[in-house]
Amino acid sequence: MANIAFIGLGNMGGPMAINLVKAGHQVCVFDLSEQAVAHVVEQGATTQSQASDCVKDAEFIITMLPAGKHVEAVLLSENGLINHIAKGALVIDSSTIDSATSINVGTVLLEQGINFIDAPVSGGVGGATAGTLSFMVGGNEADFSRAKPVLDVMGKNVFHAGDHGAGQVAKACNNMLLSVLMLATSEALQLGISNGLDPSVLSDIMSKSSGSNWTLDVYNPCPGVMENVPSSNDYQGGFMVDLMAKDLGLAMDTALKSHSSTPMGALARSLYAMHAANGNGAKDFSSAFNLFNQAK
Ligand code: NAD
Repeated sequence: MANIAFIGLGNMGGPMAINLVKAGHQVCVFDLSEQAVAHVVEQGATTQSQASDCVKDAEFIITMLPAGKHVEAVLLSENGLINHIAKGALVIDSSTIDSATSINVGTVLLEQGINFIDAPVSGGVGGATAGTLSFMVGGNEADFSRAKPVLDVMGKNVFHAGDHGAGQVAKACNNMLLSVLMLATSEALQLGISNGLDPSVLSDIMSKSSGSNWTLDVYNPCPGVMENVPSSNDYQGGFMVDLMAKDLGLAMDTALKSHSSTPMGALARSLYAMHAANGNGAKDFSSAFNLFNQAK
């Protein structure tokens, strides 16, 4: 069993760390929130008053932080963990951040003899709790193979996307596609409703026709069509509009840097930014269904 330090115990990191504890790993956890730490310690993790004390004996250091600036501050700042992590240890950053920051963090750590992979996830809080996340890994083959048994505890699908930063690019592509599918599904359902169709009947028709996609079949945005999805719970829980807007910003940065044309992603970004600005930031991203409600 491995000695693991886990930094960042929010909605995602908390359940991910608990799954590592349940699998028998020695897990030392740290978060700025004492409440978040206490919850994971109750499940059998240990903690220290400073993150630096958690990481010094760790073979793996996993970070699950909000954004690139947090990852850089925690790892690379003057008092950062880079000064305390043992040479030869492997840092696994599962936060969703921009690929340029990820590449920079990996390069600086490697200069100090510390290995690094980016390993952002898909699957949300439900996947983090159930241990069924998808990991998209950027890094070299040796570090990927070394991390895989640890990632397998927290996820069902562990992919090697390419070199440093490639995991973050894969994540940006996936969430850009997801946002476009959600908006297009919402638009089609609202068109049917405006023309007198029952959304459940229309969903069934499109699910078994060429319009079938995950947002229609598994995560239907129209209230009442499916049970146990955010749309049937006033758009509570699930994946927040604010996080989707953030991820679309990362996708647009990625497109800009590679001179790629992403008109659908750009439109999705504008629509999600507008939806968030209208006070919907904390709702699930399927609430974009209401952007197309012509009866309002
Ligand atoms: P969150 O805000 O719930 O958790 C982040 C945690 O990091 C908080 O507990 C915070 O206290 C902690 N933190 C911040 N700065 C810190 C520091 N300097 N030292 C220690 N701890 C610190 O966020 P989340 O929903 O868990 O998401 C984490 C990452 O995963 C984000 O990058 C997000 O985009 C990504 N993600 C989230 C989801 C989701 O459904 N929530 C899905 C996939 C990916």
